[in-house]
Amino acid sequence: MIIDLSGTTAIVTGSTGGIGFAIAKGLAEAGSTVVVCGREQGRVDATLAALSTTRAGVQARGVVADLASAAGCRTLIGAELQADILVNNLGIYGLKDFFEVSDEDWEEILQTNVMSSIRLSRHYAQGMRNRGWGRIQFISSESAANIPVDMVHYGLSKAALQGLSRGLAKVLAGSGVTVNSILPGPTRTESVTAFIAQMAAKRGITPTEMETLFLREGRPSSLIRRFASPEEVANLCVYAASRQASATTGAALRVEGGIIESIV
Ligand code: NAP
Repeated sequence: MIIDLSGTTAIVTGSTGGIGFAIAKGLAEAGSTVVVCGREQGRVDATLAALSTTRAGVQARGVVADLASAAGCRTLIGAELQADILVNNLGIYGLKDFFEVSDEDWEEILQTNVMSSIRLSRHYAQGMRNRGWGRIQFISSESAANIPVDMVHYGLSKAALQGLSRGLAKVLAGSGVTVNSILPGPTRTESVTAFIAQMAAKRGITPTEMETLFLREGRPSSLIRRFASPEEVANLCVYAASRQASATTGAALRVEGGIIESIV
């Protein structure tokens, strides 16, 4: 199967690093003109420079916006009025005891992880529907299904994306626009590497030992028994964005290494 996305424009939120960058790179290599987003001009420029070295002819543009706010979403929409592919990848996370999560913390995670996705999907989905083709993805998490006790706020934000994804797929039924959620498991991004290093320092062990312990203690049902790479997650996103994935919609697509204990 050859995935050819030439002629399409793809917006990937949170794409100056981590999983978002890997998705942007994968889509650009498949021929899409990619729009990368981040909060700082320097990081956006560095991302565009990195993308330009991946393959000759890669097309990419950048937008600087803080998508955790309505104004930031308006900035992106103002700069890029339409898209054929929207990957709502932006998401923040962190360990916090439920009783320590303040109203401000709840507001921040819901605005960043959920409202950004709602605002952008509400805008871009209409153009996709009018043109009769489009792909919308929500980068959720296995934490949507297995709410972690030390990240209830994060798990809830990802569970909300599951509802949003399924609901929007129904709104767009028969339109040629597919809507899916993607559920990664622990994935070795820069942020996660830093997070694991902090946990390791607290316990006085190495980051590699901490990764193994993290899986054993927190994700014992992992079947791959390791963290995934951002590229492994991106591969599924590129397929779900492809023309070939036209019968996959309203689905929760897993790339979590088998953590979720369910046969469907
Ligand atoms: P990450 O490395 O922390 O993502 C960083 C990206 O998010 C950067 O591009 C950063 O841009 C951008 N960003 C952060 N806040 C922003 C804001 N307010 N406005 C615009 N951009 C913002 O994240 P990741 O680990 O790749 O995770 C990506 C997605 O996968 C998230 O939704 C996460 O919940 C999900 N996920 C991750 C894992 C994992 O283990 N990594 C597992 C399951 C699900 P700048 O800093 O340049 O502004």
